[in-house]
Amino acid sequence: MGELHEIFRRSLRDFFQKEVLPFARQWEEKEEIPRIVWEKMGAAGFLGLDIPEAYGGTAGDFEMAKIYLEELGRLGFGGLAAAFSVHTFMAVPHIVRAGSEYLKRKYLPGAASGKLIGALAISEPFAGSDVSGIRTTARRQGDYYILNGSKVFITNGYYADFMTVAVKTLPEAGAAGISLFVVDGQSEGIRRTKLKKLGWHCSDTAEIHFDEVRVPAQNLIGEENKGFYYIMDSFQMERLSAAIISLAGCEAALEITLSYMKERQAFGKLLSHFQVLRHRVADLVAEVEMLRAYVDKACQLHASGTFAVKECSIAKLKATELSKRVADECLQIFGGYGFMEEYPMARMYRDVRAGTIAGGTSEVMREIIAKIVLDGLTYEKAYASEVSGASQQVAVTASEIVRSLPRRFKKGKMPQYSGVVHLILSGEGGGMFTVRVAQDQCIVEEGLSGEPTCVVETEAVLYANMETGKIRPEEALLSGKLRISNLGEMLTISGLFARWKET
Ligand SMILES: Cc1cc2nc3c(=O)[nH]c(=O)nc-3n(C[C@H](O)[C@H](O)[C@H](O)COP(=O)(O)OP(=O)(O)OC[C@H]3O[C@@H](n4cnc5c(N)ncnc54)[C@H](O)[C@@H]3O)c2cc1C
Repeated sequence: MGELHEIFRRSLRDFFQKEVLPFARQWEEKEEIPRIVWEKMGAAGFLGLDIPEAYGGTAGDFEMAKIYLEELGRLGFGGLAAAFSVHTFMAVPHIVRAGSEYLKRKYLPGAASGKLIGALAISEPFAGSDVSGIRTTARRQGDYYILNGSKVFITNGYYADFMTVAVKTLPEAGAAGISLFVVDGQSEGIRRTKLKKLGWHCSDTAEIHFDEVRVPAQNLIGEENKGFYYIMDSFQMERLSAAIISLAGCEAALEITLSYMKERQAFGKLLSHFQVLRHRVADLVAEVEMLRAYVDKACQLHASGTFAVKECSIAKLKATELSKRVADECLQIFGGYGFMEEYPMARMYRDVRAGTIAGGTSEVMREIIAKIVLDGLTYEKAYASEVSGASQQVAVTASEIVRSLPRRFKKGKMPQYSGVVHLILSGEGGGMFTVRVAQDQCIVEEGLSGEPTCVVETEAVLYANMETGKIRPEEALLSGKLRISNLGEMLTISGLFARWKET
């Protein structure tokens, strides 16, 4: 870490000491972070870390992002950490990465200065863990899209000036029909309700209803129907953010607990002299230090551009789970004072509870890790060792599955659509195929012919496992073993076929 990073950490810590900590309890009670604080954060350059300088940002490197999240985590105010991290690393990045020049100019300067607060709205009343199950729709009408549906649990959702919203633009295509839009918070037809929560009190968490909301077509982020891909792409940073914040919170909780143990007496002895408490904190320190090494490793991988799905998921799982135990055990050491509002442990205790739910639950993290270590995806080495065994898992070969495509074609779904896909499936049971869809028909030919609208290259075993539901396509994509020349096209065409198991 360079001198610049140290200066950045000091200035952030000074800012929080002066402008945030003295008032944070008041904001918890009022259940609101004053706008002026957002603007002060912006003026100090903290909100533009992920925004290029050309749009008013400070374009910090990953180390700066990590410091920002660590210092937020150390504060022990889960609501504050959530509000600022969601704005900086969840709402804004989709615009930075995939947004048009128009969207960047319209929203990024305000997001960097703190004049505009951002939210990311994906979860819905009937779809949280299962993003592909969202029901909010957007239908095209001239130069607008018309949004209908509901979102729930949206951090910053009540006060947000803009929201990055996931909707279905092609509802029948499942994950392949999701798009992202920037929606102005004040748009006509939006109704927002602030939700009462167990913790994170100063952060506004909202339920949002969209009733015939007109969103300009130019507010579409990137390409239509590619939203699921953009969301998947951003998950690693989201998980790392949660891990970094939670770990820093554990370290802060231990710090104040160790100090308390050296001051507080019982039975004429300092708490730090009771062996049972000494061993308890020794265990916690050991686990937190081990986790620090792991989270740092995950951060390094991510910063180097690796799609560290396994490491980011493990980091999120372990840090958020450990923070629950650290908060609980540290509170116990504070005795009755730990239960009192004026002591930070009470707030930490309730705030850490959201960590294993928001941003992907612990169960979902375990599922991702299990898919990697059991089904052999994502991590190159683990995957390579799985491939030979994987061929035994599938009852059918890839070529048989490809030849079944005309049978599985859903006639009448998109009668006007036409496209040509070249499938290059290497290894046993594979081959090269041309899949043509035109005039509401599908034809499969052996070999590659014609001008493809999309080329798909992968191993035959992986293809068969995807088609038979053993591996999710997005995980195959993240593994780097599945290459698709035109993802939007592929998502559209794949929505035209019934699943293998349905045949
Ligand atoms: C404080 C807070 C802030 C949030 N902020 C945002 C936000 O800013 N934007 C946003 O879009 N969302 C936000 N969320 C929503 C959050 O991402 C979801 O709550 C989360 O993804 C879980 O979805 P769900 O609540 O619908 O639970 P469900 O998906 O209904 O899950 C219910 C239970 O079933 C388990 N489960 C689900 N699927 C599986 C499976 N395959 N295997 C095993 N177990 C499974 C879950 O782990 C959970 O225990 C927030 C949530 C909270 C609590």
